[in-house]
Amino acid sequence: MTEKCGVVGVSLAGRSAARPLYYALYALQHRGQESAGIVTHDGFQQHSHVEMGLVGDVFGEDDLDGLAGSAGIGHVRYPTAGSVDSSCAQPFSVSFKSGSLGLSHNGNLVNADEIREELAAVGHAFTSDGDTEVIAHDLARNLLEEDLVRAVKRTMNRIHGSYSLTISHDDTVLGVRDPQGNRPLCIGKLEDGYILASESAAIDTLDGELVRDVRPGELIVLEEDGQGFDSYQLVERDHTAHCFFEHVYFARPDSVIDDTLVYEARRNLGRKLWAESGVETDVVMPVPDSGRAFASGYADAAGETTADGEPRDADDDGVEFAEGLMKNRYVGRTFIMPTQDERERAVRLKLNPIKSTVEGKTVTLIDDSIVRGTTSTQLVKLLKDSGAEAVHMRIGAPEIAAPCYMGIDMATREELIAADKSVDEIREAIDADSLAYLSTDAVADVLGKDRIDLCLGCVTGEYPYDIDGEETDRDVTRPDLEAGRTMADD
Ligand code: SF4
Repeated sequence: MTEKCGVVGVSLAGRSAARPLYYALYALQHRGQESAGIVTHDGFQQHSHVEMGLVGDVFGEDDLDGLAGSAGIGHVRYPTAGSVDSSCAQPFSVSFKSGSLGLSHNGNLVNADEIREELAAVGHAFTSDGDTEVIAHDLARNLLEEDLVRAVKRTMNRIHGSYSLTISHDDTVLGVRDPQGNRPLCIGKLEDGYILASESAAIDTLDGELVRDVRPGELIVLEEDGQGFDSYQLVERDHTAHCFFEHVYFARPDSVIDDTLVYEARRNLGRKLWAESGVETDVVMPVPDSGRAFASGYADAAGETTADGEPRDADDDGVEFAEGLMKNRYVGRTFIMPTQDERERAVRLKLNPIKSTVEGKTVTLIDDSIVRGTTSTQLVKLLKDSGAEAVHMRIGAPEIAAPCYMGIDMATREELIAADKSVDEIREAIDADSLAYLSTDAVADVLGKDRIDLCLGCVTGEYPYDIDGEETDRDVTRPDLEAGRTMADD
């Protein structure tokens, strides 16, 4: 399961935007490792540097010096729609009659093909098969007829799906979040300007202060002198569809989303996991690094009550928290391995058990999710080979049983182990002594949301968008493209 993309935009008072954007992209590198790019504007012309690779490899001193101007946007990408090549690397930039446009997109549109066909029919030439270029062309077309705010509203009335965008229109920087707020986007204040970023960790990196999340359906326009920003609530919906997996896995633990520190949310999910399905074992250990916060919350809760929910006696220390699996940080992520055989080998390269921690012990292994089941099977075997008497697996999220269409590269339905297996069948497949997942109600409770305000598509198979061949969990339909073009004045 892989992160999608990270977006950023800054507008500063007379200082070059290139380096702050570069540092912010470093902070967002976990959201995409395939390509990185920055587009700036110096008041006269647009500058762009976009390449395949990691942030540290893509930009040299000369590249940053060439990105003139105090306003700009940036992007790190893991491809989720479109080709895995430089034609889809972002920010996407284009110059047209009423100026230049740069666009960074996190998410996935559901109706990009329909809009592409419509625009191609009136003469728009596309250079990539990605959905970001579709947004850029639609916006460019609307900007020929409308002012900036109304042009963005028109485009929002036509595109359907998941998107957090940072946009540069000449030296004006904008941020937009889709009407259901599927992907995160926040605003931060810097010493001499403002920043829009996928996660608040990027704001911290620049010694800035988190102002707030961009609201679903909201357009933020940063003032060109870096003194403030304007807000326009362009579209409103009854319910949000925040991706619950941002809190569980994708976002950095040190980021704040919806006023909650992600690390704290994960610890609280771990506490719930103990309350729902705690099992008394000698040690609790995380799968590094994804299970660490969950395991710490789980072990904390286990120190307070027994698995039956009774308060512990004063002389009962509960369950010991231990790091029993050591990670080799110099091995690539498992998703880079294209075949099952290579993925299996990669797990063994990545994690090594500490024998003395597990030998002769009953172990609870905590992770955030099970996708294909490959890693869990390997880890249970590793621990048993190292002398564990029993291995119980606890997962800090519900079963992943369906694919994601909103920009997460998760695996196909056929590859997902929970798509056609019961919890007990999965337990058997991974050879654990017991297995339990966290309930969806517990997730909603910890995140302080009603279930209908979360996207749980990959768990329930019911999505918050109108996707071909899939069920929805709410009253939602794709926009009428023609009507969307005339609705900007509403
Ligand atoms: S389907 Fe799952 S991963 Fe995709 S946006 Fe929804 S909750 Fe997030």
